[in-house]
Amino acid sequence: MKLYPLFADLRDRAVLVVGGGAVAERKAAMLVDAGARVTVGAPVLSPALADRVASGRLAHRSGTFAPDWLDDAWLVVAATDDAALHQRIAELAAARRIFVNVVDDAARSSFHVPAVIDRAPITIAISSGGDAPMFARLLRERLETLLDHSLGTLAMLAARLRRRIRLRHPQPAARRGFYEQLFAGRVAALVRSGRVGEAQAEAERLLATQDGAPQGSVVLVGAGPGDPGLLTLRALRALNEADVILHDRLVSAEVLALARRDAERIEVAKEAGHHHTTQEGIHALMLEHARAGRRVVRLKGGDPFVFGRGGEELEFLRAHDIPYEVVPGITAAVACAAYAGIPLTHRDHAQSVRLLTAHCKASHDTLDWPALARERQTLAVYMGVSQLDAFQRQLVAHGRAASTPFALVENGSRPDQRVVTGTLGQLARRAAEHAVTSPALLIVGEVASLAQSLAWFGAAPAGAELVPRPSRPDRPADADRLLAAIHQA
Ligand code: SAH
Repeated sequence: MKLYPLFADLRDRAVLVVGGGAVAERKAAMLVDAGARVTVGAPVLSPALADRVASGRLAHRSGTFAPDWLDDAWLVVAATDDAALHQRIAELAAARRIFVNVVDDAARSSFHVPAVIDRAPITIAISSGGDAPMFARLLRERLETLLDHSLGTLAMLAARLRRRIRLRHPQPAARRGFYEQLFAGRVAALVRSGRVGEAQAEAERLLATQDGAPQGSVVLVGAGPGDPGLLTLRALRALNEADVILHDRLVSAEVLALARRDAERIEVAKEAGHHHTTQEGIHALMLEHARAGRRVVRLKGGDPFVFGRGGEELEFLRAHDIPYEVVPGITAAVACAAYAGIPLTHRDHAQSVRLLTAHCKASHDTLDWPALARERQTLAVYMGVSQLDAFQRQLVAHGRAASTPFALVENGSRPDQRVVTGTLGQLARRAAEHAVTSPALLIVGEVASLAQSLAWFGAAPAGAELVPRPSRPDRPADADRLLAAIHQA
């Protein structure tokens, strides 16, 4: 070990910061946060430092550094831009056995300031011993994303029960088991959900019950449309804590790769043509694993509450008294629109958006076609591509202009994303020409034409050759091809 890690109690202890600029400002602020009595020594102070001195949060020694500044200090921070002065401060401090930190100078420092993750009362400090500070910072960022902000509250709750936990579980192994349950189970979930009172009651209940078996739970997690960068931090944390992951086929391999290595992954495909798990089968799997005390993540494409049957799953869990949480995800409509450069609303074109599904003929019967056919709104349609023909006919039959632009976004947000554009009258034909396959999202409305100019991700949209002409009926397919050829030439 290169450095001996320690956490210093600086409350009401004098600490000297030499320097009056931005770096001194940051160092002084952190020391004040830790309760130290901080004096900044410098001929001139930055306005922010001067403010803090004026408000009594810092003391100021003006003038140039003199050895007697060290007289009552427990620690010294040298934060000027004068290397010779830093050397002198380091030597004087060493002679008096005062620990000194020289900013950005590991060799002259007798203590280092780590990269910190603050979840008070939990503090995580990372040091590279001065060898790779950037690496330590990156590591800190990584850990920041993994540790929920509710961690501090949970630790305080555990602190309050500490004595009683020790009495109840005098054996360290049993005690450890209890804490594990506290940190990973229902109590933690309640704290994350902002229900601290209930969390406390649950912890009390755990403390009072005899059996120490962990209680399982289910987190319904939205995995987004495919790009793992669109996962939320919460989703990532849930994936990191999962014992079992029940995922849809739609969830991308890149997202699954982020889950805890030894989590059991079970695909519960519902799409036609793939091995089939009924909704009841999924319910049964959730129940079985949660009852066995496991942390189950039910991972769905997009958002669990948008055409994801998340509601049914929660109703089932509630009925069986299994604790649950929901982590929203970026739904296909929002993601595909963004990744195709199509604003779903636009002051000039559309004042509202409808999310609808047209996954099977039966769902067509329940759609309010006259309402869908209205102008100045965007339709975001979750659908199987085999339904496009019927969808196009119904919409036009109910009055939406055949010249209304559409964009079909296949594999939205994924490396193989494709966007096919055109007008409503050509929808089914264009999709067939380009052999669009599932998953694909259909956007209908004036905004869809903006994909031509605003596209930024992946291949340029196919259809630039088709400028929609409101007054003209559809051109025959060969005219399209001709125009495409001219375009390419
Ligand atoms: N809960 C999901 C939707 C499930 S329904 C969500 O919120 O996104 C499945 C349909 O979503 C697909 O048939 C397709 O229309 C759409 N979809 C999901 N992911 C998609 C993607 N990456 N690109 C295009 N469409 C997608």
